[in-house]
Amino acid sequence: MLSVAVPRSGRGWVLEERDKPTLGFHDVLVRVLASGVCAMDVRQARGEMGYPGLVPGHEFVGEVVSVGPGVSGPVPGDRVGATWHQRWCRVCEHCVRGRLELCRKADETGIHIDGGHAEYALVDASSAVPIPESLSAETAAALLCSGYAAYSSLKDVAAGPGSSVAVIGIGGIGHLAVQYARAMGAGRIVAVTESAHKVQLAKELGADEAVVSEGGRFSLPFAVDAVVLTSEAEGALAAAVEALAPYGRLSVLPATVAPVPLALQRLLHFKLTIRGSSQGPRHRLTEMLDLHRRHGVKALVESCPLEQAADALERVTRREAHLRTVLVP
Ligand SMILES: [Zn+2]
Ligand SMILES: [Zn+2]
Repeated sequence: MLSVAVPRSGRGWVLEERDKPTLGFHDVLVRVLASGVCAMDVRQARGEMGYPGLVPGHEFVGEVVSVGPGVSGPVPGDRVGATWHQRWCRVCEHCVRGRLELCRKADETGIHIDGGHAEYALVDASSAVPIPESLSAETAAALLCSGYAAYSSLKDVAAGPGSSVAVIGIGGIGHLAVQYARAMGAGRIVAVTESAHKVQLAKELGADEAVVSEGGRFSLPFAVDAVVLTSEAEGALAAAVEALAPYGRLSVLPATVAPVPLALQRLLHFKLTIRGSSQGPRHRLTEMLDLHRRHGVKALVESCPLEQAADALERVTRREAHLRTVLVP
């Protein structure tokens, strides 16, 4: 089968022919229909994540073609998806409390185990996500990391009815976060983007106002109760803190490792909360997919043939791609 791989040198992507994966006892084998390209792919292809030699791709959708002997469902013909984490240990303190996303023994798809940038892939049956009929494979693949993270971050900062929300960065995650905030009943939504050409887009997605930042810096027309920060731009974190109203809540999504300077005085005076967000409890995945079905939330996706994966990675790296790119074998 045709497959993308992170070469042993640990840099970039190469295309190669591999054997189809061998089914394990609890696995399903899927014919991959679409596999999302994410910021983590870029970091992995830069050699920042380790584990070269594996197939990348941690959000993908496929049609089940065969199942292992220990699998009672899904069945061949079903469409299922895979997320960042699979095969939770089910016995650690987090797993037994249902907080699977905190399990430290889970496999990371495309990082510790082969992912979905290939014609076929394995998915742990108990981790497989049923894909609603109303979603195309390309759309669903683009949601299993970015949509899940966008929705979780809004829940983490209680961006519910009546709250004012700012979404910083209108990219793969941010363009969904604006729509989810609207669907969740947020009162007033402001989008912040580095690109003036995205102002109109942000408003079409549901933002009441859109602001252009410079070097990550911006000021908002009103203080907000909740901020979702997806931008890695220098100065964006400090500006996000400045944007918060008293008792405001900020969720931080960029997985950067560089230390960030932050004056604490405003946190104290305004009783602010900053929290890291990623993919939260598993039920949020289902809730997020429901938002697409019930509220018509649209993921803005561009498809790219698997054979052109290296070009797609380049475009995502240079931020020239459309909001979300998926590879289609
Ligand atoms: Zn991702
Ligand atoms: Zn566990």
